[in-house]
Amino acid sequence: MENKTYNPYVSAQTQFDNVANLIDLDQATRELLRQPNKEFHVTIPVKMDDGTTKVFNGYRIQHNDARGPAKGGIRFHPQETVDTIRALSLWMTWKCAVVDIPLGGAKGGIICDPHNMSMAEQERLCRGYVRQLSKVMGPVVDVPAPDVMTNGQHMLWMMDEYETINGGHYPGTITGKPVGMGGSLGRTEATGYGVIYTLREALKALHIDIATTTASIQGFGNVAEYAARLYKELGGKIVAISCWDNEDKRSYTYRNLNGIDVDQLVSIKNSFGSINKQKAIELGFELLDGDEWIAQDVDILLPCALENQITPPALEKISAQVKVICEGANGPTTPDSDEIIKAKNIYLVPDFLCNAGGVTCSYFEQVQCNMNYFWPKEEVLEKLDQKMTSAFQAVHKLSQEKNLYMRDAAYVIAINRVAEAVKLRGWV
Ligand code: GLU
Repeated sequence: MENKTYNPYVSAQTQFDNVANLIDLDQATRELLRQPNKEFHVTIPVKMDDGTTKVFNGYRIQHNDARGPAKGGIRFHPQETVDTIRALSLWMTWKCAVVDIPLGGAKGGIICDPHNMSMAEQERLCRGYVRQLSKVMGPVVDVPAPDVMTNGQHMLWMMDEYETINGGHYPGTITGKPVGMGGSLGRTEATGYGVIYTLREALKALHIDIATTTASIQGFGNVAEYAARLYKELGGKIVAISCWDNEDKRSYTYRNLNGIDVDQLVSIKNSFGSINKQKAIELGFELLDGDEWIAQDVDILLPCALENQITPPALEKISAQVKVICEGANGPTTPDSDEIIKAKNIYLVPDFLCNAGGVTCSYFEQVQCNMNYFWPKEEVLEKLDQKMTSAFQAVHKLSQEKNLYMRDAAYVIAINRVAEAVKLRGWV
């Protein structure tokens, strides 16, 4: 669908520069905040099961730690690029700042395809990554977490390697750990639920009853699944979900105009996270092209997959019925698409606000690890809802008062907080 390539780092810097102009940010702070503070590029030799050694390329990029230790996920992806990780590290700083948690921003990634690796190979890769980076990570320096194609098991191997190297227990080294091993209840649901807490508030602000709405979702990973579950619980109807098909190396949109049963769709996912097409058809789903998720006659679009999915050509297909876009993914919308969304008067909940539930729960995980006392799930989710709701309210209020696009309003709040921190520290 795309006829133009978008570099996420250029997008992240363009978004930053626009708001830096808007708030008249001084030159030194601009230079400091429009690029990462530190970058680590590592090679990781891994002994494969067949006796050969394969060398993987990994990255950890720390954008800013003025408000607290750098924080952000580690992605496994065969097409990972340094610029994508740079962009994601900037977005992590703004994410932690907009929800006002005492953390900075970082991101990591390894170019690999875990679908083609055994669990033992993945374990050796995780441990090798930490061996290369253990000196520049840790509870008071930089705290990784899961992201695309990584999970609690990967985090625990990484934590174990860090603890082995450092000779002690450091559960605050990493978040997204399994429950019972320093993980927080609610972490699995947190990002998806957070997306829907912000959607619920956006619909309230627009005086729309959520129970009368329909939605289409891009992606069917962890974020999408739990967003879909909570949206349905609140009375919404999901008519389409797109999902990557590992076999065909393309995505499909699964549509059911009577409303999708999330449990049913999850039950026909295979171990690679793809949906069994044949079973979906037998269950009454229509199988459409992967790009069709954006073209549905729905009130709400939830992009919950990867970057650069909402582009000007994709927006040509958008239905006039769409009223709200909630960005569950990081960077799904290109800057030139923002102009179109604004012109169409669609209400946007920007990524680093919308999907901040994951890192907010990671922060709760750190707090619980520090106390060595773990909260019940209801308590975690209640605190998460409070944090997300108050962050949303602050951004919505500013956007109303100053007549700002929601993305710009979120940036104004986040950049001001980080700029103040770097000034108070005497860095600029
Ligand atoms: N990977 C998630 C994100 O992009 C969570 C990061 C974290 O918990 O540190 O927000």
